[in-house]
Amino acid sequence: MRSSFVRVTALTAAAAILAAACGGTGSAPSPAPATGQPTPAATKPQFELASYQYSIQTKGKLRVGTREDNVPFGLKNPATSKFEGFDVDIVREFAIAIFGNEAKADPDKFIEYVPVVSATRIPTLKDNKADVIAATFTINDERLKEIDFSTVYFRTGQKVMVKKDNATIKSVADLKDKTVCTAKGSTSEKNIAAKNKDAKLLLLDSYAPCLIALQQGQADAISTDETILFGLVKQDPNTKIVGDYFSDEPYGIGVNKGRTVFVPFLNKVIADMIASGRWAEIYKKHITPVSGDLKDGPHDKGRSN
Ligand code: GLU
Repeated sequence: MRSSFVRVTALTAAAAILAAACGGTGSAPSPAPATGQPTPAATKPQFELASYQYSIQTKGKLRVGTREDNVPFGLKNPATSKFEGFDVDIVREFAIAIFGNEAKADPDKFIEYVPVVSATRIPTLKDNKADVIAATFTINDERLKEIDFSTVYFRTGQKVMVKKDNATIKSVADLKDKTVCTAKGSTSEKNIAAKNKDAKLLLLDSYAPCLIALQQGQADAISTDETILFGLVKQDPNTKIVGDYFSDEPYGIGVNKGRTVFVPFLNKVIADMIASGRWAEIYKKHITPVSGDLKDGPHDKGRSN
């Protein structure tokens, strides 16, 4: 308790410093209308003309690359056709920061969702089909050669998942000659190959099809970030997560290189979300139902089983 208090205070201070440093690129909050008074005309945040957030505001939509089948981060709900999940609620905060009060009631009016899978995240940015990628996107040196990232807004690590009755696979070390399903173009693919060169990889576009492969016996295990595995276990309680973390997966928002004013702007929105408790609310809404824990920021990977 004590350490999280100190952390929150430090984050609040950091957010205040960032807010001062970013002066002129954000907006002052509009005063709440007094009861019975007419609502003032919607005010838009003011940005430097050369900033990327200004060009997004002018175009009227934030184009977001996110996942359609990656519970609890990005899902296109088949019943409503609306996107939902942790990543989706994070980008809605960016939309509110760019478009102001008008976006608060329904941020999706100001967002164009561009479905991505692991392997299409960098090409979607580079082909200028999205302004940001919010899709369980691990920040690493290899990717930083091609694109930029925001600060870390979520942190997890890789684990292994098997059927509940599997008594032989207890960790990544037991995957010799076993078929392990993961997504092509992911860090999960690289981490498995590095940790157990004798594992046989079944590479699919995303993790939901890996669950079907596990259920149908085409794969002995699935391996990716633990929080994504939590989402799969929730969908199929006849599965379990085994072993310890064998990687660190700090998620950032992917952005094309050269957006030197935009990235600090996104970082400030992330710092503000953490300091205000909004991040903790989004965590509680999307991650807690699958992880069972509560968090107030992306400090560590999570719980270890
Ligand atoms: N976070 C990892 C990555 O960025 C694995 C999860 C994913 O494929 O999205 O590659």
